[in-house]
Amino acid sequence: MLEATTPVQFVKGIGPRLAEILAAKGILSVDDLLHYLPFRYEDRLNPRSIVELRPGEMATVIAEVRTSGLFRTRRMPIFQMTAGQGRTRLRCLWFNATYLKDKFQPGQMVALYGRVQDNRGELELVQPQFELLGDPEGDAEQKAAESLEVGRIVPIYESTGQGRLTPRWFRRIIRKALEDFTPEVPEAIPTAVRKRLNLVSPREALWKVHWPNEGESMQALQSFRTPAHIRLIFEELFFIELGLELKRREQKAQTGIAFELTDRVREAIKKILPFHPTGAQKRALKEIASDMEKPFPMRRLLQGDVGSGKTLVAFEAAIIAIENGYQVALMAPTEILAQQHYFSARQILEPSGYRIVLLTGSLEDDRKREIRRHIAQGGAQLVIGTHALIEQKVEFEKLGLVIVDEQHRFGVLQRFKLMKKDARPETSNATRVGEPDVLVMTATPIPRTLALTLYGDLDISVLDEMPPGRTPIVTRRVGDERADEVWQFVRKQVEAGHQAYVVYPVIEENEESELKAAMKMYRELSKKVFPDLQVAVLHGRMESDLKEQVMRLFQQGKIQILVSTTVIEVGVDVPNAAVMVIEHAERFGLAQLHQLRGRIGRGAAKSYCILMTGGKVSEDAERRLDMMVKTNDGFQIAELDLEMRGPGEFFGTRQAGLPSFQVASLIRDRDLLELAKKEAAAVLAGPNAEVSQTEIDRALRQMRTKWQKTYGLVEVG
Ligand code: ADP
Ligand code: MG
Repeated sequence: MLEATTPVQFVKGIGPRLAEILAAKGILSVDDLLHYLPFRYEDRLNPRSIVELRPGEMATVIAEVRTSGLFRTRRMPIFQMTAGQGRTRLRCLWFNATYLKDKFQPGQMVALYGRVQDNRGELELVQPQFELLGDPEGDAEQKAAESLEVGRIVPIYESTGQGRLTPRWFRRIIRKALEDFTPEVPEAIPTAVRKRLNLVSPREALWKVHWPNEGESMQALQSFRTPAHIRLIFEELFFIELGLELKRREQKAQTGIAFELTDRVREAIKKILPFHPTGAQKRALKEIASDMEKPFPMRRLLQGDVGSGKTLVAFEAAIIAIENGYQVALMAPTEILAQQHYFSARQILEPSGYRIVLLTGSLEDDRKREIRRHIAQGGAQLVIGTHALIEQKVEFEKLGLVIVDEQHRFGVLQRFKLMKKDARPETSNATRVGEPDVLVMTATPIPRTLALTLYGDLDISVLDEMPPGRTPIVTRRVGDERADEVWQFVRKQVEAGHQAYVVYPVIEENEESELKAAMKMYRELSKKVFPDLQVAVLHGRMESDLKEQVMRLFQQGKIQILVSTTVIEVGVDVPNAAVMVIEHAERFGLAQLHQLRGRIGRGAAKSYCILMTGGKVSEDAERRLDMMVKTNDGFQIAELDLEMRGPGEFFGTRQAGLPSFQVASLIRDRDLLELAKKEAAAVLAGPNAEVSQTEIDRALRQMRTKWQKTYGLVEVG
């Protein structure tokens, strides 16, 4: 008898070797295997007689093997088999299929499934799927009826292990696992929810999703909307949402800091503003301020496309904390960005007398120690640094607010991890007054409903309005054979007083050869193409001091053309830069291109983004470039990105090496996600007439198992 948690290796037909292949796919337990859903289905219900076949259709045929043999053409070996029903015959062909040489014996019954083709008046099946049914003396008819391949709606699984584990193999193995699976599959979704949504039992769902009934609608199957599919998808999302909802409730129950929003604080905020905030910025600040006033910790996400002005809002929030006598930590994903925040913080906040420090990895150890002491004693009011630096080693005297910038670099699951370790900076216990507030900023334009459900543990503010005076960026695509024209254009722009970025795709900064190519590009541009202009280079492996210096010179306009790797991708802000040339644009992902382009179009001048392609451009790359040329709208781009890459990669979960959803898809299943969120909240509102405490406990137990498995977190809830 198999239990959900039994390792797959104990399913009949899977040994340790195959188990290893499955493990690479994330299939470790019987439960994983049973949730390995077919990605489509084939209607092989009604086997056809050969005479009624029509060219172009997909058909199932059961026939008797007559002749078979391998013959070689000049290009490749072809295996041919002729099957017959009475006097009619049907030819079947497989290319490069020497392995079929001794497969078929005359007289054997075989089930075939494939597309019917017309070859000069004769019908044939090319590369059909097949299954041998036995010899005609035996009970072939009955065997066909029991077959997993024909006479039914057949599940098609993605094969894996370099084709070793075929759809056929999965059909057999999953079938066996279902047959041996414990009849007592526990139901952890409360009855009221199940009734309301008409959910089928877990056991039925598992069976039907692999082996649908004859009458099931093909359309519902292909779109994952049969009752069985809905049950499994809802279940997965429900327990995730339950965890998020619980987390949110717990956070709200902690003691936080109730900052006061006095007139003096308001004045202090007004004083720093270099321009009129946009309506969206005002709204966001209001939401943040209202959170900060409350006596429980803020957990808020500030979402806004690149250039929407998140930094200013963050600084305003910082002032509230500082004016209340607390310290603020601002964490950036890269050192360059930390430095940039430091510059703008000094420009904007220092005139008011706030004490700001920058903590970077490249500082001398002595200096670092000194700064840490300064922080621990409460001297530093705003501490800016990279995540790595602040999370680990810094002790604050009185920390009131943590701002995490450009969270999208990390991905959702990593954020759970951060919170798990409670990796927020430490406040020494003596003055630990309450949990600090947390403001997370992201430029990932996740569609709002999705964000609401996905970031279920955060409240969300959106900057959906750009600061005034921006002219839309013009984006063009050119082949690199026209590089000369591009450089001429760049020169004209620079002569008109603007600055330019030239970005080179060094995705992996530790990739020696890529870096070399970028440096070669830089030398060419600085020595040959623009010998008379100020050209500098910036990449991730430069010393921090040097990086800082280059950024400062660029910011001051003393460098006209900055050749850079993707280190400038996130957050860099130089409004006078009006041109960006992206070399080998075909190698970048959509989100990355959008982020890069977000570095320009920040001032009043018209900005140009030139996507240069070199070499072969794949179909996917074509779509990405097209999209970039067509729109500046981050949300639209995000949707396409989501569609093309899948949510796992979009949110950075795959990079983090963590599993994504078992059966749900964030694109396909948005409706069910919302439903799951609603139902999860309703359950936690109990116990009441609808849900009993026992049911809640059962659901929570299941949720923890689920989270433990998906996120490796034990301590949710
Ligand atoms: P992001 O949201 O990408 O972090 P930034 O905070 O870097 O955007 O702001 C982008 C640019 O817009 C900066 O140059 C900033 O000074 C400017 N900016 C921000 N808010 C306003 C505003 N209300 N009016 C005019 N310019 C603004
Ligand atoms: Mg920013």
